[in-house]
Amino acid sequence: DIANDDFIRTTEPRHRAAVIELLQRCHDAGDIELDTYSGEYCVACEEYYTADELLDGGLCPIHKRPVEHYEEENYFFRLSRFEDRLLDWYASHPRAIKPDHRANEALGLIRGGLRDFSVSRTSLDWGIRLPWDDAHVAYVWFDALTNYLAATGFGDPDQDYTAWWPVDYHLIGKDIIRHHCVYWPAMLLSAGVELPKGWAVGGWLLVDGEKMAKSGGNAVNPLDLVDTVGVDGFRYYVLAETPYGSDGDFSYDGLVSRYNSDLANNLGNLAARVATVVAKKCDGIGPAPHPDSPLAEAAAAALAGATHAWDEVAPSRALEATWSLIRATNAHLEANEPWKSDPGAEVDAVMGDALEALRIVAILASPAVPTTAQAVWERIGLDGSVADQRLPDAAAWGGYPGGRAVTKGDPLFPRIAT
Ligand SMILES: [Zn+2]
Repeated sequence: DIANDDFIRTTEPRHRAAVIELLQRCHDAGDIELDTYSGEYCVACEEYYTADELLDGGLCPIHKRPVEHYEEENYFFRLSRFEDRLLDWYASHPRAIKPDHRANEALGLIRGGLRDFSVSRTSLDWGIRLPWDDAHVAYVWFDALTNYLAATGFGDPDQDYTAWWPVDYHLIGKDIIRHHCVYWPAMLLSAGVELPKGWAVGGWLLVDGEKMAKSGGNAVNPLDLVDTVGVDGFRYYVLAETPYGSDGDFSYDGLVSRYNSDLANNLGNLAARVATVVAKKCDGIGPAPHPDSPLAEAAAAALAGATHAWDEVAPSRALEATWSLIRATNAHLEANEPWKSDPGAEVDAVMGDALEALRIVAILASPAVPTTAQAVWERIGLDGSVADQRLPDAAAWGGYPGGRAVTKGDPLFPRIAT
């Protein structure tokens, strides 16, 4: 259920061309200069640390292992010159980094003072040679980060990389804010390349408050969980359980509890119940919704809330808004009890509205539970792909045509016994 548009290796010619182009531009701008550096270096971080950043005993603050004393002649990117330019840029793009508390972290790093960073090595015999000095190869940041630009065709005179660049978002983890939100935009400013439109910074998924580690014995293999809750169930849990940007704390009980409440009892139950009543009371043919349905308002609120939240890269809020329509629809059915009524216009009205709500739910939920959303789409008799529907028009009230065969099928989310 995951697809990529492109796959790129840093050994590809298009990547090499992009790195050379970016290096040359920054060098031409006077922001890459030769210097001698000596300092304490963590090989695992690929970063220098100052004495006050190291833990007691001279250990790397991230890896808690000894750093090494390095002294060498390197080319340096003059990051120290970019403090004001970065702060100005972020001041005029205040919503660029989401969520806000991660933006504050990035600004704090910039205000805390910026140190030049090394961009070359002479000690390596592999890598991309600097276009103006072939004794040096590009090291780490100009090679790694430039991969984003390389994928858009930057550095290839036959391609217009601006067809893809600037990107809407870099989706990154909170531990690489410094490189993506400080180093990278400074490199782009130097090179005269537009900055990304945004960064969406995610937290970590912890177990009992600790990072998962294979050696720590607390690692959880998502493939094992998928056997129990399915790919959609697991993805829904990850997106819904923790606000994007904060650390999540995984527990098996939490996963099962959310699966049972939101997926089995709410969405799964609604779909099954609608199909059952339509089969019994409407000859299996879905009635059309009413334009003035009491559910129309709940549907409009769900659409507005979910759209805004997805735009803000806040999937947990988007799903909360979507599930509010599921709850409203279940409540509407319980209030009207169409399963107790004789077939007729009243039952048709309730079921047409419920089918329309289910159609809108399928559209709004499809980013999180694509396979389930498509199954709902087909079971209520709709053609084509739910993933091809476009907001806001597709989710406006009244789109269910009626007159379609509704089928029940197997339970979407069988309840997990606890
Ligand atoms: Zn380290």
